[in-house]
Formats: sequence, C-alpha cells, structure tokens
Amino acid sequence: MLPIARGIYNGLASITRNSRGALHTASAFRCKAATENEAEAVDGEEEPKSSGPDPKDRTQVIPVETSIRYLKSVAYKETYGDDFVWSQYRRNHKGMYAPRKTRKTCIRQGKISTGNPCPICRDEYLVLDYRNTELLEQFISPHNGEVLSYSKTGLCQKSHLRLRVAVEQARDSGLITYDVPFREYDYNEFYGQQKS
Ligand SMILES: [Zn+2]
Repeated sequence: MLPIARGIYNGLASITRNSRGALHTASAFRCKAATENEAEAVDGEEEPKSSGPDPKDRTQVIPVETSIRYLKSVAYKETYGDDFVWSQYRRNHKGMYAPRKTRKTCIRQGKISTGNPCPICRDEYLVLDYRNTELLEQFISPHNGEVLSYSKTGLCQKSHLRLRVAVEQARDSGLITYDVPFREYDYNEFYGQQKS
C-alpha cells in the first residue's frame, strides 16, 4: 500500500485503531521515529497524535538523516518493494492524453492541495537532498546518467527542479558519479571483412 493511502487510512483509523498490526507502514515509521526521539512517550499522549495531525500537512521538516534511515527501513520495503518510488505512480488527467507538463506544485501553504500528489510530495519521508543519494539514484537514467524527465517520473515541476538541484549538488560533491558503460564493438560489422 502506498503512502497516499494514508489519508484513506486515517479516515478508517477509528475502525482499525485498536489493531496495531494494521497500521500503515509510513505512519508506523513515523510512530517509530517519534518514539525514538522521545523515549518517554506516554500512551495517553500518543493517542491524540495518531488521530490528531492532518495527513495532508507538510509543514513539519523531516531531517535528511531520517529520510536516509527510512529508505533502508522495513516500512519503505513494504511500501515500495523493489520498485522505484515513482514506478507505481500514475498521473491523473482529463481525456486521453496527459498535459505535456506536470502540475506546478502539489504542496501549497504547507498543505497537499491535490488528490494525487506526485511521488516525492505524497511521502513526507522522501527528502530531496544531495546526501540522500539512494533516493536520487532512482531518478537517474542508467543509460546516460541524466535525470529522468518528469513525463516519466510524474514529479511536479517544483519537485523536479529541487531534484535537479540536488543531483547537481551531489555530482559536485562527488557523491554521485556516472561512468559510461564499456561496450565492445565488433568492427567487422561496420567495415565488412578486414583482410590482414
Ligand atoms: Zn509534487
């Protein structure tokens, strides 16, 4: 289940709140991170925390270290599996053909302003930063080392720009390198039979 389902999940929270196993992975990660930060989390305090915050609220700043840990966590693995974060995302549009450009932004005034936020905006634990190379590499083509187009990944224009900046910074600091794959050519295919 993807993090966008968290809104639906929170709607159902009143039904499934008693069964801790049914917690959504990303919110389970949030609970885990919260308990790690403040070890003395009383049950009475935690109860309004799980139902209280708006799932569309994005004012809370998630540190990069948390995001890096999230990408290695079980919660991430259960949410995305072995896929890229963008591979299951589908754009939402009217008619047969999608508009050439994706939407300008998914987050307005600290809140998700759309029903179908892009792969980066929908999961608050995916932080675009030059140190978060594991995430950035998912958006880099293995064929030519370029950043994949938003038409492929579905990122909103704002996230795409931040992605390009982060990738460029990571390249400048040497965290991301790209080596052209070695190809061996059989030159006989180009010049015919060579007579020695
Ligand atoms: Zn977005």
